[in-house]
Amino acid sequence: MTAERLVVIGGDAAGMSAASQARRLKGPDELGITAFERGHFTSYSACGIPYWVGGDVEGPDELIARTPEEHRARDIDLRMRTEVTEIDVAGQRVRSLDRESGETSWTGFDKLVIATGARPVRPALPGMDAPGVHGVQNLDDGQALLDSLDRATGRRAVVVGAGYIGVEMAEAMLKRGFEVTVLNRAEQPMATLDPDMGRLVHEAMDALGITTVNRADVTAIRTGPDGWVSAVETADSSYPADVVVLGIGVEPETALARAVGLPVGPHGGLLTDLSMRVAGHDNIWAGGDCVEVLDLVAGRTRHIALGTHANKHGQIIGSNVAGGYGTFPGVVGTAVSKVCDLEIARTGLREKDARAVGLRFVTATIESTGRAGYYPGARPMTVKMLAEYRTGRLLGVQIVGRDGAAKRVDVAAVALTAGMTVERMTSLDLGYAPPFSPVWDPVLVAARKAVTAVREAGTA
Ligand SMILES: Cc1cc2nc3c(=O)[nH]c(=O)nc-3n(C[C@H](O)[C@H](O)[C@H](O)COP(=O)(O)OP(=O)(O)OC[C@H]3O[C@@H](n4cnc5c(N)ncnc54)[C@H](O)[C@@H]3O)c2cc1C
Repeated sequence: MTAERLVVIGGDAAGMSAASQARRLKGPDELGITAFERGHFTSYSACGIPYWVGGDVEGPDELIARTPEEHRARDIDLRMRTEVTEIDVAGQRVRSLDRESGETSWTGFDKLVIATGARPVRPALPGMDAPGVHGVQNLDDGQALLDSLDRATGRRAVVVGAGYIGVEMAEAMLKRGFEVTVLNRAEQPMATLDPDMGRLVHEAMDALGITTVNRADVTAIRTGPDGWVSAVETADSSYPADVVVLGIGVEPETALARAVGLPVGPHGGLLTDLSMRVAGHDNIWAGGDCVEVLDLVAGRTRHIALGTHANKHGQIIGSNVAGGYGTFPGVVGTAVSKVCDLEIARTGLREKDARAVGLRFVTATIESTGRAGYYPGARPMTVKMLAEYRTGRLLGVQIVGRDGAAKRVDVAAVALTAGMTVERMTSLDLGYAPPFSPVWDPVLVAARKAVTAVREAGTA
């Protein structure tokens, strides 16, 4: 029997999960697996970079789940520092470039997995490539930033972007003893929240000593006489900087796939069916940050670059390419993050998302605490809930607070997935004891208030 040939492009969360799962299900005599990774690392946790830079965890070795040697020991032919430069769909082969030797070669496949991830947004502004300016997309970036922190002569850090990577990196810079300014293009930090909830994040960052400038449009990065970064300029002002960290979002890395006409959606990500097979191509799968996913609440596809989805995609793809069966139904848009002790969580739709898909809704916002009010260490928490007008169906939840605020959103994620109404949520049997929650959990208090808001909105 001739072994089938599986080729995987991209050696991180989605790609190597797919390769590993396929190998679990089929041995090398049935399935030959070749994986290409253009970088220096495989199966690494980019999610851990802010905590490595901030000194909470050791790195980079601790951030690597599986080394190339470990993958090879499982009979995966892993080609490191080797970039796939072309896919020949009809000829069932990929062309690759060995970045060390400069040699190119073709590798045939019966089945192909595209797991090329996302690339950071880098506006073409003067000074973007100056020494001292860093992205934090992979472990090489993390090490380069740490080297710059050692070299920097002053202690002023400017973080461009106030999404979750921006706020996590602001914390990391603070922990490294830098004076931190965050330049944020949006109305408030954490634009994945509604602005009223983002304002709470802004206030907490102020209290931590992080200066946040909203509606700041970066126009250039200036360098000093030594060529090193010296300031970040916006349309209105200039912010002195000894180091700059960029966290301005990512785009799906789909150039290879688009070059051969594979289908991409409105957000630039590859389109797949529920089994993660690329639409219209029986022998090509794609997963992770390079695809769009179905938003189960909005009923539209979105691009959500999160490791939690990439790992699941990889496992499902690995099962399917090895003859098993798995599907990825979609997401409800859950994400958690923190800046120092302030926890930030969201799931479902924001107000503007609901409007964009034509949903009418009511909102309810409550203040509570993460433990019984009398229990030592009880800290405040704000929960905002969106429910559909008339039906009372839960549409979204945002939580900002301390002491267990973030993971409370998981209850809301389950309720969204189950299509619950806010009324149904009020009777959920959630755990209670004074050290963990008030007798009415903050999520239940918000649901009760949302029920009232739905009733008051009437049926007109
Ligand atoms: C700082 C930071 C913090 C994060 N924190 C979180 C978090 O807390 N929670 C969360 O869920 N997610 C988080 N993420 C997101 C998470 O890391 C990504 O969603 C996840 O890594 C995506 O996995 P992937 O395999 O799809 O893509 P990637 O991890 O980007 O891997 C794609 C790989 O493909 C390789 N590649 C691309 N093109 C080619 C080619 N042509 N040939 C060969 N190789 C190629 C790339 O070098 C790369 O290694 C964070 C990301 C960053 C940067």
